[in-house]
Amino acid sequence: MSSSQIPVAVLGATGSVGQRFISLLDQHPWFKVVALAASDRSVGQRYADAARWILDVPMPEYARDMIVVPATTEAVQAKIVFSALHNEVAKDLEPQFAQAGVAVCSNASSYRRGEDVPLLLPEINADHIHLVKEQRKNRGWSGAILTNPNCTSTGLTIALKALDDVFGVKKVFAVSLQALSGAGYPGIPSLDVMDNIIPNVGNGGEEEKVEWEPRKILGKLNGNKIDLADIIFSAQTNRVAVTDGHTVCASVGLANPAGPEAAEAILQEYCPPISARELPSTPRPVIEVRNEADRPQPRLDRLTGKGMTTVVGRLRRDPILDLKFVVLSHNTIRGAAGGSIYNAELLVSENLL
Ligand code: NAP
Repeated sequence: MSSSQIPVAVLGATGSVGQRFISLLDQHPWFKVVALAASDRSVGQRYADAARWILDVPMPEYARDMIVVPATTEAVQAKIVFSALHNEVAKDLEPQFAQAGVAVCSNASSYRRGEDVPLLLPEINADHIHLVKEQRKNRGWSGAILTNPNCTSTGLTIALKALDDVFGVKKVFAVSLQALSGAGYPGIPSLDVMDNIIPNVGNGGEEEKVEWEPRKILGKLNGNKIDLADIIFSAQTNRVAVTDGHTVCASVGLANPAGPEAAEAILQEYCPPISARELPSTPRPVIEVRNEADRPQPRLDRLTGKGMTTVVGRLRRDPILDLKFVVLSHNTIRGAAGGSIYNAELLVSENLL
């Protein structure tokens, strides 16, 4: 490890999101993976034996022979841990790491609603990172917990931010078509999902997240708290037989109604706040607008901008609200591992590690 590299670890390293972390952290310019942690099922095994690799890129060499360790502060010695744990496990373990002085970049929903916990998409709300100062004061931690939103809210919220800045978003009606990798590995039985669409992802939990999390992310940092954005959301979430890439069909009501051409220009030109503009994982571009009548499509468009770009298409007038469009975002890259790494880069570049 070069002396300038920061030691990092992945908790839940064998799962769907964990594998993305392993892949995206290969050759990262700032971070060096020093530990991979998972459950008792995997502890003590070589990573290559413990993980059933499901990505379509090879398992990085650095990870193959690492021995999987328990997700404890004793076994994992790192400055940053990337958490790909399920909520119930994350709820207990993440504060232990934060207390021990580690920055936890979490994909779990356990702490997203915490008033002093940043819920980050750096390309749109990088300033919310400063909540970690309040968190450290409140909780007596030298580490911190930073979260990214649920993967369905991610692309939708990025597109909404660009529109909200200029036209003011008042209402959002969103219907999702979510990929299988979002349910983890091994996930949903094939006989349930082949030839099928399963409504109500997460038994209602997902719809609540999509109706609430964007309000925090689009909210304003007001001193030491976030004022939620005054936007009404209605969401319906569905699982479809796509491997990666969440699609959301959205209709929005605007304070200053705009047509599709004006909206397209605003989306296309959207630029991140300066503190999040030149980080290694900054999406380039943040938003890509497709003009073909049948795009975006998950298989063709999910790897735009190395999976970090939000792809918008089918911008049209909406006869009930004002504007409608389709958003695609890679759920395990921008919506999970890539997003957490971007959060960690922001933490480091703001001297908050
Ligand atoms: P997953 O495929 O089921 O993987 C879960 C991981 O957690 C595995 O590595 C598992 O290890 C490990 N684990 C289970 N119990 C543990 C314990 N007691 N101690 C330590 N490790 C334990 O799940 P996933 O889809 O990657 O999701 C991970 C988290 O990310 C969830 O909170 C999820 O909601 C969130 N998320 C997922 C997505 C997505 O697109 N998939 C997007 C955004 C957020 P073993 O293999 O050893 O059992």
